[in-house]
Amino acid sequence: MTTEEPPPNTQARPPLTLRDLDALDIETLKGVGPKRAESLRKADVYSVLDLLRYYPRRYIDRTREATIADLREGEEGMVLGKVTRVESRRIRGNRTMVTVKVSDGTGTLGVTFFNQPWRAKQLYEGLPVVLFGKVESFRGNPQMSSPIVDLIGDQTGKIVPVYPQSEKAKIGSADVARWSAEALRRAEQRTIADPLPDSVKRAQKFIDRHEATVEIHQPDNMASVAQARRRLVFDELFAIQLELVNQQRIRQETEVGVDHAATGLLTTQMLDSLGFPLTGAQNRVIEEISADMHHPHPMHRLLQGDVGAGKTLVAVHALLSAVEGKFQGALMAPTEVLAEQHAIGIKSLLDGLMVEDTMSLLSERPLRVELLTNGVATADRKRILAQTLSGEVDILIGTHSLIQDSVHFFNLGMVVIDEQHRFGVEQRAVLRAKAQGDKEPDVLVMTATPIPRTAAMTVYGDLDVSVLDELPPGRTPIETYWAAGDLEEAAMWESVRTEVAAGRQAYVVCPLIDASDKIEARSATETYEELTGGQLYGLKVALLHGRMTSAEKEEVMSAFRRGDTDVLVATTVIEVGVDVPNSTVMVILDAGRFGIAQLHQLRGRVGRGEHASTCWLAGEVTTSDGEARIEALVGSTDGFELAEIDLELRGEGTIMGERQKGQNDLRLASLRRDKDTVALAREVAIELLEADDPALPALLDDSAVILGRTDTEFLRKG
Ligand code: ADP
Ligand code: MG
Repeated sequence: MTTEEPPPNTQARPPLTLRDLDALDIETLKGVGPKRAESLRKADVYSVLDLLRYYPRRYIDRTREATIADLREGEEGMVLGKVTRVESRRIRGNRTMVTVKVSDGTGTLGVTFFNQPWRAKQLYEGLPVVLFGKVESFRGNPQMSSPIVDLIGDQTGKIVPVYPQSEKAKIGSADVARWSAEALRRAEQRTIADPLPDSVKRAQKFIDRHEATVEIHQPDNMASVAQARRRLVFDELFAIQLELVNQQRIRQETEVGVDHAATGLLTTQMLDSLGFPLTGAQNRVIEEISADMHHPHPMHRLLQGDVGAGKTLVAVHALLSAVEGKFQGALMAPTEVLAEQHAIGIKSLLDGLMVEDTMSLLSERPLRVELLTNGVATADRKRILAQTLSGEVDILIGTHSLIQDSVHFFNLGMVVIDEQHRFGVEQRAVLRAKAQGDKEPDVLVMTATPIPRTAAMTVYGDLDVSVLDELPPGRTPIETYWAAGDLEEAAMWESVRTEVAAGRQAYVVCPLIDASDKIEARSATETYEELTGGQLYGLKVALLHGRMTSAEKEEVMSAFRRGDTDVLVATTVIEVGVDVPNSTVMVILDAGRFGIAQLHQLRGRVGRGEHASTCWLAGEVTTSDGEARIEALVGSTDGFELAEIDLELRGEGTIMGERQKGQNDLRLASLRRDKDTVALAREVAIELLEADDPALPALLDDSAVILGRTDTEFLRKG
């Protein structure tokens, strides 16, 4: 490799940027030939930078490792030893058992693996292994059952990094250690550039990026691992925040939006007709939105609020403000049921409001709200489309159908997206582009359930955020019970009957539409049959699921709204938005199958009126995660608290979801563990951008490299 580097004035060569490291193909490393490179690419390691960002998943601290003689029964232990014997055999039920003996000079440890036949190939005599697991005793000898196995090869050193190893890609931990050592050796002279301003490093007591990169791969002790990790976690999160905040800034500087001339005429009438005052939080958020709308830059705002916090009114206020200034508004909902629900609610809320008739200057006409879903008949559809284009429709409500090619607006000024994690950024962009002319409409995104603050900063970090953190007064908290057995379920159906007798209504939610051989969960159609002939015999029970036609669904829902049916047996089609204040019981069957956010959202369908409400979570739960979810719901009705628990249980993967699809930017950081660093990274990003710090070009380039070019483009579309 000395031949590749020009010998003179090496001193003068600038430190290696992330872009430099990313430009170095993995094959330029000694020991990585075409075959190894192919394996590494399978693990998404293409460049030297990728390799340096292929971090150990844990470390073995040899100063604290136990000998086999030291292992204590009933406790967890870690030992390093050599494999002395491997046996594989078939046992009952066509399963395999692999038994392995490992010794370290102080004793012999027996290890068993059930149904992991490949272990017999992975482990062989003489192979050094690190085992971590609970120590049991078998005929007086120490034993571990399915321990964590790390192949560390012949690595020396007090602290041994353990890399994620891939059986399929045939990459062992020891290989990665060797290659990253080689990469670090080659970077030693020029060092890795660290564009983060000294002031930030001093204030946060961060070590240098080069040092951090060395220490994460070749630590001297566990304390230096912690320091390295702190610095590199920051770098990762900072890259994301800098990009997001910068996008926000660029948009503010370049995009031309609508300066709404809200008169307050329509909104005042709407608010006066409510019969209740807005909550403090609603007033505050309405002001935040109004300020944005009055600004000539397009609004990009996220409205967060717990179930039942009254987000719809805030959204309608924004839509009406747009109409006051002679713009059109659009509301996009994730399902047809919800779009219909919104249309019915909003139509009745705005009933009687008049707007100026632009077609004949002197007169007024009623404000027009229209619903456009797949269920709308062709003739109506044509008419609605034509009147949307001519400007006669003031507010158009729909599902995905609003972003179809055939929909054109006269002058779209305000878009509300009721998101429920189902609309991607791309769809938002399409809808925005439906505005005529060069002015972009304002966009308000509503989440159906709260998401944790740190996750919101990362997933929606390019949006401004408004939070409705106050429920309207007079809500009685929903009592939640877990009906785990037949006795409790009997009590549950009895309580449904009691409530119906008192004039209330109930929902019964099932995970499936039809019975299935493959999934053991109750279906809506079966449950409907069973209940009408059994526990709920004599009550007026209706069935609602996603395979019914729009017209059928609408009919069932309006009968339920009118109070003509007592009990609605449904799938999760009722998950969001359904608002029937007279319903006071929510029964969720096989509740362990649903996620926390979904359960909270479903539960939010009751407790919307003056009567006390109950939620029953029914069914046996077989997983500990399912149990934890149900316990969370029983223990709390606070959506923000539940969102945090959800993040704890599930990790970030699911929350990042669609938006971060394909984005492998969180290598080291965790939105759970590193909450504070997310906020810090955002603060620093804002600070540096506001100060127009000279380090910005280099820092932004780091972001681009870390996020990957395509990902950055993806963010930009938002
Ligand atoms: P979400 O935030 O879940 O979308 P909604 O907008 O559907 O909540 O509102 C839930 C219910 O609360 C609706 O019936 C709505 O009319 C009512 N509501 C909204 N704001 C208030 C308020 N300030 N006072 C009393 N009731 C309110
Ligand atoms: Mg709602």
